[in-house]
Amino acid sequence: MSSRFIKKNESFICLNCGTFNNEDSSGSCRNHCYYCLYSLHVDIYPGDRKEVCKSLMKPISVDNKGGKLSIYHKCLGCRKISKNKSLKDDNIVKYYETN
Ligand SMILES: [Zn+2]
Ligand SMILES: [Zn+2]
Repeated sequence: MSSRFIKKNESFICLNCGTFNNEDSSGSCRNHCYYCLYSLHVDIYPGDRKEVCKSLMKPISVDNKGGKLSIYHKCLGCRKISKNKSLKDDNIVKYYETN
């Protein structure tokens, strides 16, 4: 519990769509599903896993500033909005199709 070293990049099964997500190959922090883009509210600060909310976070918008894609998530539990870096294998096309 006292470790300062936080493994942020880990594989997980999406609680929204059930897709298995591999850890990101480039070593970035994967914190959302590449297929449906949903995330989980588990971090207060990125990677710390200290948030107790643990609700699903819905992708509400995609931002493309300066060629860098970001995804905005809104928590379905506490309604907090957070911004996340998009990873290269994210299924952004599907997001545009369904929104
Ligand atoms: Zn998913
Ligand atoms: Zn929340």
